[in-house]
Amino acid sequence: MKFKNWLTRKLDKKIDRIVNRFKLNLSTYDSGVIDYSLVNQPEINRLKEIPYPEFIERVAKIVQENNLPIKFVPVKDFDNPDRDFKTQPLGYRIYTLELGNPSASNKIVIEGTCHGGERIHSITCILVALSLCKEGALREKILQKSHISILPAADPLGWQKKTRAYVNMRGDETRNPVVVNMQHIRNLFGWSDANAVFGRNLEEAKSPRIRAIEKHFMEQFGPPTLYNSLHETVMFGSHLFYGNAGIMILIHHYFPEQVRDIIFSLRYALTRGEKIEKALRKFNPLAELKYTEEYLEYHPAFEKAKSIRNYIKRMGIRTFEDKFFRVEREFPVPGPKSEITIAESLLITGPLYVKAGIVLAPDYYEKMSGCVGQTIETFSQSESERIIQGAAFIDGSLRCEVLGEYYE
Ligand SMILES: [Zn+2]
Repeated sequence: MKFKNWLTRKLDKKIDRIVNRFKLNLSTYDSGVIDYSLVNQPEINRLKEIPYPEFIERVAKIVQENNLPIKFVPVKDFDNPDRDFKTQPLGYRIYTLELGNPSASNKIVIEGTCHGGERIHSITCILVALSLCKEGALREKILQKSHISILPAADPLGWQKKTRAYVNMRGDETRNPVVVNMQHIRNLFGWSDANAVFGRNLEEAKSPRIRAIEKHFMEQFGPPTLYNSLHETVMFGSHLFYGNAGIMILIHHYFPEQVRDIIFSLRYALTRGEKIEKALRKFNPLAELKYTEEYLEYHPAFEKAKSIRNYIKRMGIRTFEDKFFRVEREFPVPGPKSEITIAESLLITGPLYVKAGIVLAPDYYEKMSGCVGQTIETFSQSESERIIQGAAFIDGSLRCEVLGEYYE
């Protein structure tokens, strides 16, 4: 434990040095896609504490008063498509904000507050929407070349109660405070995390809310070509492990069985020595391949995700840096391989979740429409930092996906 603490501190310092090299002042920065100067802590505090209907009303008012090209589209009821879906109880509607060109080939979904209690990215969603409405050549091009649907709060009741939704096999939803450990996603006395029921084989085992959202994105708006889900780690104790850990991008990608097995047998280069070794082996193509990153080089989904990660880094924003995995690696007894990382702050979740039988929302859309699914986790940092990280991820995604930019 002492050793681990020492190691964590040492790595923290190193990461700080790297991050502080960049001197971009984001509080006054407009990238041409996202206007980061719109992030305002007092406004965040106000928005965070109001009830869900008021949150939606305030956004609608901003859109109306400024005559912004944002369309509020409510998700329809699964069984009665003529009616809007309404939560039981309280009767809240689920809204999507649509922007851009409906006949464009890029269909992009941005989802916030999939888990109640992770409200901060609802604000990130609004920041993205408002930024995209500002003038500018890049933004015009993005809106011309894509149709964007922003779902600021996938779970209005969870948003309201700051709790996470769980679904049983009958499709009933319940909301509980965020569970303490990482196992929450697997099983809670027969109740699964709502994000993990999208892929249930039995339609009836999904809750009416999940079915309504799925139908909306598959039939009404989409099918999507890119699905981005924004999360934050808020579990009790997470700050101990993940404090100031930056942003992590999880790629939902499915490989054929044999490819999956190869990936599971590979290692990832994290230490400096391994990175040098990996680079040197490029000169000897006959050397045995052993790193995940090398195996996946030139894979389109990873190239794009890497480019997004590099864009975020270039802005001086802290990415996950594998801090946790490095620490975990130093343990004398190797535990089960928790995730597969291919590069700093990029994780492949597809193969892992397939083994565990978990299908999250982005996995579902990836399976159904062949789109790329990406999730971000942002860790214990200030709220404005988390918002900036989430917004930078969307900034990078739109640049790489729609504008075809590439960042080394
Ligand atoms: Zn989450």
